Amino acid sequence: MGKRRLTKQQKWRIKKIQDERARRAERKESEAVEQLDAGDLSAEQKGLVIAHYGQQLDVEALDGDLKGQLHRCYVRANIDSLVTGDIVTWRAGSDNSGIIVARGDRHTALKRPDKFGQLKPIAANIDQILIVIAPEPEAHANLIDRYLVAAEAVEIPPKIIMNKKDLINDENQARITHLQSLYTKLGYDWIEVSSKSREGLAPLVKLLSNRTSIFVGQSGVGKSSLIQMLLPEENIRVGELSEGVRKGTHTTTTAKLFHMPTGGDLVDSPGIREFGLWHMDELTLAQGFVEFRPFLGACKFRDCKHQGEPGCALQSALEQGEIESSRMESFQRIRDSLDDQTIINTHD
Ligand code: GDP
Ligand code: ZN
Repeated sequence: MGKRRLTKQQKWRIKKIQDERARRAERKESEAVEQLDAGDLSAEQKGLVIAHYGQQLDVEALDGDLKGQLHRCYVRANIDSLVTGDIVTWRAGSDNSGIIVARGDRHTALKRPDKFGQLKPIAANIDQILIVIAPEPEAHANLIDRYLVAAEAVEIPPKIIMNKKDLINDENQARITHLQSLYTKLGYDWIEVSSKSREGLAPLVKLLSNRTSIFVGQSGVGKSSLIQMLLPEENIRVGELSEGVRKGTHTTTTAKLFHMPTGGDLVDSPGIREFGLWHMDELTLAQGFVEFRPFLGACKFRDCKHQGEPGCALQSALEQGEIESSRMESFQRIRDSLDDQTIINTHD
């Protein structure tokens, strides 16, 4: 996530430029909407937002004569910001144009902070977050926990995909089995697959069907390779620039929705693949550890840090074996890193 710090003046200047741009775009947009309104428009129908391009969106007709067709649409004023995956009511114009007149309810919203730190939706109606890990680069429990917490915070069920199954060997087997048992005990699905040898493909295809998924995870685990395997017609670049190289640059490519030939939808963009932890309050963080939930609020001290204070409910759950020590360590580590972020933010 971009942690570039801006001075107040820089922020003000950026905002001024953005406001001016937005005003200009709005003027252009209302002209376009007027023109469309003047022509023939179809009756209202349901559509699905496939992608976003500046002021316009690609909408796929979900029913009627146009079902399956894409239309480049403008948005009628006073509709909340629309994102990929939104269900909309729209009216088709000529030449594959159209106007979106209303946004449907979202059952989930994937959110990320924008460069002003405000949480903004980046995709709607995602049903599951597939956290991709691999034997190489090595999957650390703490990193997996970070993704799980981020997914729990937006209330989208996460599942774990161990890719590069072909690289599981005598040397790393025990470590991987340990992770598998830890996370399946917590109730998370765990699937092993290889985008190289295509082992384990059938269970993955089944997991993806009839719903909308996103793939997230550390660079190098094989997200692009998996997506390329699932979308053979698309040109997905494998082994692209690592996150390290991209760091600091703001990823602007917006999310796009794909229909997989094997069934199910996939929403993808470089920004989505990097979906991860942002600054969150301590309760949201603790609730992100699903097995902590029954014990939260039960500690003797309201501001308990769960670090050995008397009457700590989490500590006693740990002693009873109801919480694994690696998860408790993760929680403490993530909380400490959030504290660091808070210190940075208060300087702004
Ligand atoms: P991403 O950064 O997560 O998108 O990862 P990529 O898809 O770019 O893959 C990173 C590297 O891992 C590439 O060199 C791939 O060829 C390799 N890779 C991807 N999937 C597998 C797999 O299932 N097995 C093996 N052995 N290598 C893989
Ligand atoms: Zn406690």
